[in-house]
Amino acid sequence: MSFDQNHKQRKGAIEVICGSMFSGKTEELIRRLKRARIARQKVEIFKPQIDQRYHETNIVSHDSNYIPSTPILTSSQILILSNDVEVIGIDEAQFFDNELPNVCEKLANMGMRVIVAGLDMDFLGKPFGPIPHLMAIADYVTKVHAVCMECGDLAHFSFRTVKDASLIVLGEKESYIPLCRSCYVCETEKLKIEKSSTNQTI
Ligand code: ZN
Repeated sequence: MSFDQNHKQRKGAIEVICGSMFSGKTEELIRRLKRARIARQKVEIFKPQIDQRYHETNIVSHDSNYIPSTPILTSSQILILSNDVEVIGIDEAQFFDNELPNVCEKLANMGMRVIVAGLDMDFLGKPFGPIPHLMAIADYVTKVHAVCMECGDLAHFSFRTVKDASLIVLGEKESYIPLCRSCYVCETEKLKIEKSSTNQTI
């Protein structure tokens, strides 16, 4: 097939689905991938090996709606494992290395549809891993929202309820709650006051 024919028949793109925990990122990824399968497109799904909360080889969303996925260690493995694939899904993308945007760009430029889901911010409210870069180079960005556990508004912050300084804590349901901006600011302030008062007593 010549480059021209290839260009007309297959239009690659990068789609990013981002948001806080409990915002339905994985559900939205699964919805898009299932529709691609209905359209008889060849779909391949990857996730970082670090995420083994529920099942080795399945992408599992919180409502147990699952599809099989391949756990991999580095983003460059996606290039090797994506031969002849039309649609690529990548879940928990915030845990991948910083090569991921380059990998996604290469795949999209070859005519593949790449759908990436991940946390856009860590529990400190800072941009998370390769997601900000991916959002910049994506054709489409969808920010999905959770519901604030304090006031019921739309939430896009993941507030950590356990005191652990490491960035990755598995078993997220017990360790995080989604909060809106004002509730997140309020809870963070409370933590600071708590911290300074315990420091004073020591
Ligand atoms: Zn709130």
